[in-house]
Amino acid sequence: MFADNRTEYLKMLASAERGEIDVVVVMKLDRLARDLADATAAIKLLKCYCCTLLAGDDVNNADTAEGEFMRSILLAQNQFHARRVASDVIKTDCNIAKQGKTVGGVAPYGLKTVDRHYYIDETEAPAIRLAFQMIADGKSYQSVIEKLTERGYRTRNGEKFSYSSLNAILRNEKYFGTYIYNREGGKKKKHRVLLEHVDEVRIDEHIEPIIDKSLFDKVQSILDKRKNECRPHIDASNYLLTGKLFCKACGGPMSGGSSTASGRGKRKYRNYCCLKHQKRYGSTCTTKNVNADYLESAVKSVIAESVNGYLKNASNAEAVATCLNAPLQKERAELSRRAFDLDGEIDKLMSRAANTANAALVQRYENKAAECAKTQETLKARIAEIDASKALTSDMVCGKSLEAEELFASDEDARTLIDLFIDRIEIDETRDEIQITFRQ
Ligand SMILES: [Zn+2]
Repeated sequence: MFADNRTEYLKMLASAERGEIDVVVVMKLDRLARDLADATAAIKLLKCYCCTLLAGDDVNNADTAEGEFMRSILLAQNQFHARRVASDVIKTDCNIAKQGKTVGGVAPYGLKTVDRHYYIDETEAPAIRLAFQMIADGKSYQSVIEKLTERGYRTRNGEKFSYSSLNAILRNEKYFGTYIYNREGGKKKKHRVLLEHVDEVRIDEHIEPIIDKSLFDKVQSILDKRKNECRPHIDASNYLLTGKLFCKACGGPMSGGSSTASGRGKRKYRNYCCLKHQKRYGSTCTTKNVNADYLESAVKSVIAESVNGYLKNASNAEAVATCLNAPLQKERAELSRRAFDLDGEIDKLMSRAANTANAALVQRYENKAAECAKTQETLKARIAEIDASKALTSDMVCGKSLEAEELFASDEDARTLIDLFIDRIEIDETRDEIQITFRQ
């Protein structure tokens, strides 16, 4: 019974705000809120709305200094009582848990509760085994989710498994038989009022295991490793020819990478290299690294030449103009979609702010809304910038001879053009040649 999930209570506050209510009557003050801060906030709010609060156990005149003092004592007493009850409950629960019995609530997916003990639910357990086995085999979360969905498994809410529900399963020690209650470092939101420390209860080999401990441990180490793994430091977008460039000698793809020159400058060189030229792939190919800047500018000038020939035809010019404009138009559409979504977000935050009595929460919602508005402004500024920038028209490119710099204003443009014109580039080191195959 807290402010966040008491819908009737929130409705009452909302209609008080709209001035529809003049008097709020509660049997006892603790009906308003058990938490001291929440109750104080609600009382203040009602006062703001010029709404009179009448409580059966309230002091006679809470407006006087003495009255306010008395009311504070009453509220504090209520909170103390609520916390003590909660504390008793969790201590009792812990004692029950120490005997290996379940403490209310719903059993995790794959298990069912019978007579205060967990048992395997064989309708759900195969999903658990499948998930652990697939991760142990090196599969991704996405492929596990797809497989589970394909086999017809759904969460208890009847929905597809999500990353977080799958993660909760893969991290749950109950599946190899350890009974845990009040896990250290776990979420304890159920006992929000309780701040006292209560020990974790852990009983090994207490539940019939769905999976082996060894499988569980293997999955944990895989997940931990994935969590700590850094993405490789290759920025593929920097290498325009990736996917088009191949080694003539071995037929393999050549990919971008950088090397640092020795010496004081520590200058970085961008290269394209044949994978099979690298030690870790067996060093079976002799094709050496090719300087990326050199290769890219060579390819660009070849493209520029052929673009200029191509542009003599008006319909070709149209196609090229559209193609060059496409990324910008795509960006604009994406930006305006995001700006639109933010409107909804702000709306949601403001209505949440209106529906809570907690001043700190109201402040947080307002701050978040302000952040959203700021992001929105940035998006709109960029949209205006795109609209102001002159889009290329077919007239602008038709029959003109464009310089390479004009054509390849951005990496995005360069990539579009390379895609449009080139099918394959091969490096033939023995003949010291670059062979470019154009698209038909
Ligand atoms: Zn090679």
